[in-house]
Amino acid sequence: MAEFLVPELDPAGLDRVRRLLADLRTVPELTERYAGAGAVRGLADLAGVPVMTKDDLQVALRHLRPRAADGATWVFQSGGSTGAPQLGYAPTGLYMREVHDHWRPLDRDDVFVNGWSAGKMWGAHFLVNAYLDHVGCTAMNLGALAATEYDPWLDFFAAQRVTGIGGTPSVLALLFRHASDAGVKLPDLRTVLWLGEAWDPRLDDDLRAVAPDARRWGMFGSTETWVVATNTPDCAADTWHPLPSQLVCVDDDEFLDFTALNPTGLNPVLRYRTGDAGRFVGCSCGRPGRAVRVLGRRDGLVKFRGHLVNVADLVDDVCARPGVARAQLVVTEYADRGGLLEVLVQPRRDAAPDLADRVRSHLLGSGFGPSIVFQRNPDALSVTVVDRLVANERTGKVANLIRRAR
Ligand SMILES: [Zn+2]
Repeated sequence: MAEFLVPELDPAGLDRVRRLLADLRTVPELTERYAGAGAVRGLADLAGVPVMTKDDLQVALRHLRPRAADGATWVFQSGGSTGAPQLGYAPTGLYMREVHDHWRPLDRDDVFVNGWSAGKMWGAHFLVNAYLDHVGCTAMNLGALAATEYDPWLDFFAAQRVTGIGGTPSVLALLFRHASDAGVKLPDLRTVLWLGEAWDPRLDDDLRAVAPDARRWGMFGSTETWVVATNTPDCAADTWHPLPSQLVCVDDDEFLDFTALNPTGLNPVLRYRTGDAGRFVGCSCGRPGRAVRVLGRRDGLVKFRGHLVNVADLVDDVCARPGVARAQLVVTEYADRGGLLEVLVQPRRDAAPDLADRVRSHLLGSGFGPSIVFQRNPDALSVTVVDRLVANERTGKVANLIRRAR
């Protein structure tokens, strides 16, 4: 039975859900699907409305072509590295007033560096700038940095007495690893905003060395749902407090779905599944009520030499090995000799020198799906320790799985 985070909808929320249903029924491909959903008088009825897939939403957007009532209508896109690009629409302001009303990592005195890459229609850079407009701080648009640019920009941060920086954890982890290795200190830095990926635990170690007063503040969402929830340094990094306009539901299979109750919302997001699994939990920050613990993506099943591999489970399993900071899978299909699974491993500082061998032995002995394949074909598995994982050029994000054909 679908369970919602809040006990019931208020009249405005109920009205919004009815409007979303009415809009979706006008989409020819979806009319039949939503015709079966009866009148929605509360959450018990909403639990009977079908969940929406990524494809459903893209079909609906193509038909509805949303337009903002005031100001501009902005179109963003996500994905493209692990799936087809997903579009999302947002009005001027990018819904950030509500975020600012409920989440205050920065104030007017801050000097903030926006380190999300801009361009190619990815929303993170622009969304954060819209947030900063409400904060009223001093802000600098840096974008994502290449490795050769770290030193001069770290000097610049120190000289400008930067107090806040934000980016995807993959990009921040490389920057702060470099700063830590180079002995750079940023004593004024106290706020690190993150969005776009799960938190990278290596950042905790490097931040302690570079900026001991810095704390992480996260936003969680997607291009289609927009910002769903936020957290603070007192929350576990995987645990989130949804905004009032975001209705979160968890189904029997632990998939999360999201309904956007914002009355000016442009995307018809009604029980929309992003592929994230989750659970409702109490949060370590002590805030009353329940929060959402995000367990990661559950949409990553790939077939490798005839065996189904759960990508997230395998990556989690490797990451749980001593000395492993992060891991990534690269599956290459060769026309002549079948598939090769490469496990790329980013080490922790205290990693053993033979980390690759240890991870390989673990995978061969673990009994997970294809371990039997590797016992028969040792060449089908390679484990490599790398300085950096393969990142999306546009966003700097690191996907769990890269697929290649040769
Ligand atoms: Zn919390």
